[in-house]
Amino acid sequence: MVRGMVKALKAGAEVDSWCTKCKLVLNHRIIAMVGTAPARVECSTCNSHHNFRARAPGDKAVASKSGSSRAGSSASPKTTSTRGPTKAQQVVLDRERTWEKSMIGRSPNDFRPYRTSELFDEGELVRHSKFGDGVVTRMLEGKKVEVLFKDEARTLAHGLTD
Ligand SMILES: [Zn+2]
Repeated sequence: MVRGMVKALKAGAEVDSWCTKCKLVLNHRIIAMVGTAPARVECSTCNSHHNFRARAPGDKAVASKSGSSRAGSSASPKTTSTRGPTKAQQVVLDRERTWEKSMIGRSPNDFRPYRTSELFDEGELVRHSKFGDGVVTRMLEGKKVEVLFKDEARTLAHGLTD
């Protein structure tokens, strides 16, 4: 989970939420906010709409940060006097470079259409109907993979049988 900087949450932004359909914590898009917290979200994997839930049901507040309320609890003290790209910008640059490298010399046939029922392997190229072309950068536990897209790395489900 790379969570370098705290993004301002708003409708249309992306957030990790429990999906009531996929039964996984996955990337979601916020549909509606209540105050500063997401209320309704759309699953990026199955497109279902449901209430925002930061954790799996019954998942007792693990030592992980539960999202929203704590702004910048860890890391990155703000140094204002930096020249050149900030750390956050550097992360973005590195990510784009990695992504571009993975795309060099590829033909459209090298990409597999993303579907939750497909099983993906590290290094495989994925074509997602919403996010575009990506490369599997990491296998995660519980039928999830991290896929690097041009704009962002996202956690997606794979190998779902039902
Ligand atoms: Zn879902």
